[in-house]
Amino acid sequence: MVNLITEFPEIEIKQNEPLSNYTYTHTGGPADWLAFPKNVNEVQQLVTFAGTNQLPLTVLGNASNLIVRDGGIAGLTLILTRMNQITVNDNDVTAQAGAAYINTTIVARDHGLTGLEFAAGIPGSIGGAVFMNAGAYGGETKFALSKATVLLPDGTVKEFTNEELDFGYRHSSIQENHGVVLDATFSLQPGDQDEIAAKMDELNARRAAKQPLDLPSCGSVFKRPTGYYAGKLIHDAGLQGYTSGGAQVSTKHAGFIVNIDHGTATDYVNVIHHVQETVKKKFGVSLQTEVRIIGRDK
Ligand SMILES: Cc1cc2nc3c(=O)[nH]c(=O)nc-3n(C[C@H](O)[C@H](O)[C@H](O)COP(=O)(O)OP(=O)(O)OC[C@H]3O[C@@H](n4cnc5c(N)ncnc54)[C@H](O)[C@@H]3O)c2cc1C
Repeated sequence: MVNLITEFPEIEIKQNEPLSNYTYTHTGGPADWLAFPKNVNEVQQLVTFAGTNQLPLTVLGNASNLIVRDGGIAGLTLILTRMNQITVNDNDVTAQAGAAYINTTIVARDHGLTGLEFAAGIPGSIGGAVFMNAGAYGGETKFALSKATVLLPDGTVKEFTNEELDFGYRHSSIQENHGVVLDATFSLQPGDQDEIAAKMDELNARRAAKQPLDLPSCGSVFKRPTGYYAGKLIHDAGLQGYTSGGAQVSTKHAGFIVNIDHGTATDYVNVIHHVQETVKKKFGVSLQTEVRIIGRDK
């Protein structure tokens, strides 16, 4: 049996660590091994070790778009939030994968660079934003990103252009090539700092008015089905307030499921299935999850 803590004494690694300490929903079972690499070299060492020892590998950013089942995650899980540097070069902002998207938008604002305002309130990391092509209020990561550096499963590091990332609605090619995003560069435009700040404040105010930001959640649970809005279907089906255990369809925003009282991942999955079945029965529409559901059952 491998022991990653003795194998990599210079990297912070925890064994059997509850992921509920890290996920935005405050749910999820333990990671067999949870590592916090500080730089690209440490990520490479860990990814190579996982490959050589046939350990399943999972990469997390801010865990704001995830439900980790209550049985936790087998093998090695990396959390990249220690890799959080953001640098500015002329109109380019380069952020490491673990940097918060919100902090990246603040750095862009403080340098008078426009193009990332839409992401002012998206609570994910840069790696998660590239993986998901995160977007809001008409903006998408794909509109601002020029390139990303990715560690591929064969151990090579490759720079991906925007086109190579094959961005679509909540999609990028990273979902198929199983690479680890190491950093991303956004090519922005010079703008008026006060206008940028005002736009970000306005979008954050709209978000706070509509979303249940006072309770744990994973954002919008379902993708937008073609021709419909998931939240409206859920509202019209009378599902707001539906509760299983401690997970509840938000009474403030029908697209969110909030943790109201020590909910578990199983509670979340039960609510998701009930919503999917009810909406299918009432309106004939199949809701697909935007949130990623990973890990093993308890
Ligand atoms: C209150 C709230 C509001 C939200 N609002 C929005 C919104 O307006 N728009 C929006 O798009 N999303 C929104 N989200 C969802 C979420 O913030 C985004 O999807 C975000 O991009 C996820 O980033 P993350 O770092 O949290 O990813 P995680 O949840 O940690 O991971 C998500 C997926 O990305 C993969 N991943 C993460 N990092 C990497 C990496 N470095 N390399 C490879 N794969 C990686 C993971 O394996 C996983 O499959 C919201 C969430 C919450 C809780």
